[in-house]
Amino acid sequence: MTSEQFDAVIVGAGFGGIGAAIQLKRMGYENFVILDREDDLGGTWHVNHYPGLAVDVPTTTYSYFFEPNPNWSRLFSTGTEIKQYANDVADKYDVRRHIRFNTSVESARWDEEADLWRVTLADGATVSTRYLITATGFLSQPHMPDIPGITSFAGKIIHTTDWDDAYDPRGQRVAIIGTGATAVQLIPELAKTAADLTVYQRTPIWVVPKLDFKFSARAKRLFARFPVTQRAIRAVTDALYEFFIYVGLHHSKTLFRRLNIGASDLAKMHRFFSIRDPELREQLTPDYDFGCKRPTFSNSYYRVFTKPHVHLQSSGIERVESDGIVNSDGTKTEIDTLVLATGFDLWEANFPAIEIIGRDGRNLGKWWRETRFQAYQGITVPHFPNYLSLASPYAFLGLNFFNTMEYQMRHMDRLFGELKRRGATTFEVTEEANARYLDRMTELIGDSVFAVGNCATSRSYYFNPSGEATLLRPMSTRNAIKEASQYPLSDYRIA
Ligand SMILES: Cc1cc2nc3c(=O)[nH]c(=O)nc-3n(C[C@H](O)[C@H](O)[C@H](O)COP(=O)(O)OP(=O)(O)OC[C@H]3O[C@@H](n4cnc5c(N)ncnc54)[C@H](O)[C@@H]3O)c2cc1C
Repeated sequence: MTSEQFDAVIVGAGFGGIGAAIQLKRMGYENFVILDREDDLGGTWHVNHYPGLAVDVPTTTYSYFFEPNPNWSRLFSTGTEIKQYANDVADKYDVRRHIRFNTSVESARWDEEADLWRVTLADGATVSTRYLITATGFLSQPHMPDIPGITSFAGKIIHTTDWDDAYDPRGQRVAIIGTGATAVQLIPELAKTAADLTVYQRTPIWVVPKLDFKFSARAKRLFARFPVTQRAIRAVTDALYEFFIYVGLHHSKTLFRRLNIGASDLAKMHRFFSIRDPELREQLTPDYDFGCKRPTFSNSYYRVFTKPHVHLQSSGIERVESDGIVNSDGTKTEIDTLVLATGFDLWEANFPAIEIIGRDGRNLGKWWRETRFQAYQGITVPHFPNYLSLASPYAFLGLNFFNTMEYQMRHMDRLFGELKRRGATTFEVTEEANARYLDRMTELIGDSVFAVGNCATSRSYYFNPSGEATLLRPMSTRNAIKEASQYPLSDYRIA
């Protein structure tokens, strides 16, 4: 029945899967495979290549803690550079040869007799593995809006996750649906050449100025010769972001509500200096607190709406017709191209991204929905032996994915180190340790902007469908990393 057997199967070849692979190699595992449905590595940074794509945390911070990159061209590097970084790291650590592209994974089932995971691929083949690691990302399943008539549109439709690089908006009448983080980057780019651009906004977004600059050739040489200089800059960018997240978001209830208000004041001033028309400013003003959604940075977003060929449409969409959009206010916008910046299905289709059946037939997706979304230290789940879920509830630390990666790699290091020390092959987190952790997360979230702020109208992916903010791990990076190196080994049953 099973053709191949591995020590580990990793699902996903984004930065999560690559990081897990590097960690496995460090611990001496070579018999593993990374399966990804795409035709290249990089996950987010392979799939997304729309104009204007860039990181929204400084790239000095957006990199593996053990692999600073002296080649970043600027503080907020472009998507192309991030993709190149993924390539470079995968090659340097000899990860690429483990990856199988164009391989979609459907499900995984724990085989209690054999102490193995049986992983089923979309083509019906199965592979077996002792350890299963899903690194399927939070933002990897595109959301397609269900708008009446959309299939009748005769022009071009592009989702931002499937950008057509040959597409030229020059002279075109374009509509874009969505004003999330992606749209904030894309709209100013489209406006440069489109003849007419209509932006369909459901939920306004908080946008603060972006303090971006290029790294000179001399600075890059310095980073390459003395990596400590780059580490020093990272320490500064890390600390700034950490301060904002930990203090402004997670301790919103206590002393620091003022910081959150300060950030909204900054966004307000940014709007005021960018837009003269008070009505337009009003339309672009969110009615939920800063921080409920991932904060967005741009120097051109607000200003673009003052251009005569850019229109904001916030009355809603009635239906799409073959040549345009009928708006809820009864008007019609005739268009040639429809751009969908409608984001991702996070809680519906992606939690978990594949069907996972653990011990006693427990189905992870069902169990999460019937109880609560939960994962011990954002990585393991009771009843799922030998399974690490990197895109888990309460896993994402602050604004920078690589902080999450760092604590998850350290967690793996401690866990697998103990397995080796005991000559053991299976681990499973105890129900008791998991419950303790969930209680702690629930308590900590109670202090955050998500609990004490006004987030009701934010439509933020930080919240699951039951209204709980279960995406972010509400603690400092320092504490999460410390816990990853010190958690009680008795929290696991190891055999
Ligand atoms: C436009 C955009 C901008 C972003 N900017 C930032 C930023 O500035 N800072 C930040 O910290 N984060 C940012 N993020 C979040 C970003 O997703 C993470 O930083 C990081 O890249 C996630 O890596 P990952 O490996 O966990 O997931 P991903 O990069 O999403 O990779 C998941 C991989 O799993 C594969 N996969 C999923 N399901 C299956 C399946 N069933 N079978 C096989 N393969 C599967 C996918 O093909 C994909 O390659 C951004 C996300 C987006 C979409």
